[in-house]
Amino acid sequence: MFQEEVRVKTGGETDILDISDEVEEVVRKSGIKNGVVHVFVIGSTAAVTTMEYEPGLKEDLPGALERIAPKNIEYKHHLRWGDYNGHSHVRAAIVGPSLSVPVKDGRLVLGTWQQIILIELDVRARNRRVMVTVMGE
Ligand code: ZN
Repeated sequence: MFQEEVRVKTGGETDILDISDEVEEVVRKSGIKNGVVHVFVIGSTAAVTTMEYEPGLKEDLPGALERIAPKNIEYKHHLRWGDYNGHSHVRAAIVGPSLSVPVKDGRLVLGTWQQIILIELDVRARNRRVMVTVMGE
């Protein structure tokens, strides 16, 4: 098992970063050739998944999340904390904080048009910590 924290800086709400290279670098460092890599963003207002990383989808995914959990409606979370990011938490819970990707012959098993993405769902730019755990042999 090999574990390393990757740090990235997001550019604000619904910014989407391609973190495939960072994850692949941790896999390379681990020396593990076959197994699985687990990627987990620490925090409840960001999410990790895969997507074709292209400009159209970088607008389409935030657009879909706006329809699912609109920003300008009332959330009970606001009554409790007053930080007005209820939609951020709901969106993050739906997309999810983690992802597992198979590792074969030292490489990530991803489609050609499939990148590992981190999406910032909070209402401001943030520094994000991503725990990458490689398991296998
Ligand atoms: Zn909050």
